[in-house]
Amino acid sequence: MSVLAEHHRADGTPGRRRLVRGALTAAVALGAGLAAGGGSEGAASRAGPHGPRPGTPEAALRELSAGNARWRTFHERHPDATRTVRQALVGGQHPFAVILGCVDSRVPPELVFDQGLGDLMTVRSAGEVLDDAVLGSIAFGVVELAIPLVVVLGHQSCGAVTAAVRAAGGLEQLPGHLRYLAEQIRPAVDRSLGRDARVDAAVTQNVRLVRSRLAAEPDLAARIATGKLAVVGARYELTSQRVHRIR
Ligand SMILES: [Zn+2]
Repeated sequence: MSVLAEHHRADGTPGRRRLVRGALTAAVALGAGLAAGGGSEGAASRAGPHGPRPGTPEAALRELSAGNARWRTFHERHPDATRTVRQALVGGQHPFAVILGCVDSRVPPELVFDQGLGDLMTVRSAGEVLDDAVLGSIAFGVVELAIPLVVVLGHQSCGAVTAAVRAAGGLEQLPGHLRYLAEQIRPAVDRSLGRDARVDAAVTQNVRLVRSRLAAEPDLAARIATGKLAVVGARYELTSQRVHRIR
């Protein structure tokens, strides 16, 4: 999917605020950051009390990419947290992306994508491990709220992945529910690699496997087939604070 190929178009939801996004060129350039590893500083405008709302997978990716560019260059806007927005949100929510991320305290989605109230539906589990509650939560966002984008967000130096690597190598006996997490991550572990490379590669491969499983979920697959939804993998680097796409 190319985020560069398609222009933003307003969604068709009646009553939803539709404002033409400014600085489209800058936003498209930033879209490349999440999509292809490039990117530069700049941002799409976010005029109005709570809009505009990205209505397509490509527009949602551009918004996240612009927000991460603000975050990593210390130009955060902390949008959508004003008194007006809080009141506007009493009547309902129209988040534009689901972020399935790790529980790690260093990777809060609203911060690393510089988003605010009502913008992201966040689902977090250690190592982005899927279970019925996680799948149901994501399906709620996609099916009930018509969210056009799901991002599986892994991260550098993930403790859950590290524990899974150690357990897979027989170095550690994990208790109870931690063992469940490690078993879920284990298929991403390549034991032919050295230890540090093994953890880093497992972070990336785990994102790929989780993304593939999600994309195969019938409710999601049907929407992907019609272009209404994209499920993408991405990684957050603690060292650079940059989010980049995993393919
Ligand atoms: Zn983690």
